[in-house]
Amino acid sequence: MKNITSNMDSVVIIGAGQAGFQVAHSLRQTSYGGKITLIGDEAYMPYQRPPLSKAYLQGGHDEESLLLRPADFYIQNNIEIMTGQRVEAVNRSEKYVQFNSNKLNYTHLVLATGTRVRKLSIAGAELDGVVYIRSLDDAKNIKVRMETAHNIVVIGGGFIGLEFAAVARKFGKNVTIIEAQSRLMARAVAPLVSEYFREQHESHGANLIFNVQVKSIIGENNTVKYVELADGYQISADIVVVGIGVISNDELARDAGLACNNGIETDESLCTSDPAIYAIGDCACNYNVFANAKIRVESVQNAVDQAKHVASHIMGNQVSYKSVPWFWSDQYDLKLQMVGISTGFDKAVLRGSIENNKFSVFYYKQDMLISIDTVNRGADHMLGRRLIGQGLSVPPEIAADETVDLKIYLS
Ligand code: FAD
Repeated sequence: MKNITSNMDSVVIIGAGQAGFQVAHSLRQTSYGGKITLIGDEAYMPYQRPPLSKAYLQGGHDEESLLLRPADFYIQNNIEIMTGQRVEAVNRSEKYVQFNSNKLNYTHLVLATGTRVRKLSIAGAELDGVVYIRSLDDAKNIKVRMETAHNIVVIGGGFIGLEFAAVARKFGKNVTIIEAQSRLMARAVAPLVSEYFREQHESHGANLIFNVQVKSIIGENNTVKYVELADGYQISADIVVVGIGVISNDELARDAGLACNNGIETDESLCTSDPAIYAIGDCACNYNVFANAKIRVESVQNAVDQAKHVASHIMGNQVSYKSVPWFWSDQYDLKLQMVGISTGFDKAVLRGSIENNKFSVFYYKQDMLISIDTVNRGADHMLGRRLIGQGLSVPPEIAADETVDLKIYLS
């Protein structure tokens, strides 16, 4: 790869999360010779979010171990990192960003601003004890509250709510999960997988309520006391953990006149409508060849792979972004891993044993493998990344046959 950058070049990255960190790291790994500035509005060095709803709450991670790299990594790699600084504006014609009365010029700008939680908009939503999990500060707050809470209501049966519910059950809390739809993780997995996780949460003692809206949250002394459902039913709550999705932090981009629609829109190179500005990670929306649609992906894989792609693009490698999407979720002792995008599947084939909590579901569209969900079957997941990533398939009737080693379908 040709290094077309000079030491006069400057990359400014807004957002010091998973994606922002990775661009800076990958640029230095590929010998980028210019200045790199990573600006984040949180008080911390870049850290991992996935443990916040899992191991961190259980005590398995301290703050230090959440960090993507220790502080001296940034000094050693000549990456200027600014924490606690919120970028307020981007001036595209003069190519600078503005924060805290400072102006910083860029040659390339990377928007890696992530998402923020979607907030409840019902009566009582502002009461003390109604909480969300996005940041380390959120998780710290919940950890403290968990010490004294007995009754916990989780609003939203998606990944984060369910992961949190599993931790809360491990601590012996009374947990009720309220889901507006008829099944868990409905946007991401097939009914069979949703049903399996419903049974798992119930067998671990969680109470699940489906097909219902939350009407209000009732408090006492400004603190949450009950969650009231649309049918009038009230559930006692010391904490209400809300996991009802996220919204792209695309305001900077919008204000700068960049195209946005469900996030900051980019082309196949991950450039926004301004070729000097990239958008990556949770905040960005782009054509995904595996979904055959423009989508916004919220995952570590997406943040890391898009960041690596942008670093490579800045270094002059002009290829299109194409990485197979994958994701994981830990609930109780179950590792759920997903690869590919199952939306629009017309056939689902089971491999393995649901009873033994080790199985995979292969999803097909017109007999072509498009996605695999696995529970405690890491090898199937890894194989799926290679198969789907290379556009390869396994005949559905073979996928169900455990006597066949599916590696023979790799080219
Ligand atoms: P972020 O990590 O959100 O970073 C964006 C940063 O930009 C934030 O710090 C934000 O405050 C900052 N910022 C925004 N605007 C500005 C501004 N104007 N100026 C300065 N800074 C700004 N993914 C998985 O694949 N597997 C999992 O199991 C998993 N579990 C998760 C559990 C939780 C609790 C959460 C919250 C997420 C989880 N994810 C998981 C998702 C994954 O963490 C995200 O997809 C990933 O962090 C996205 O990285 P990002 O850099 O795009 O955004």
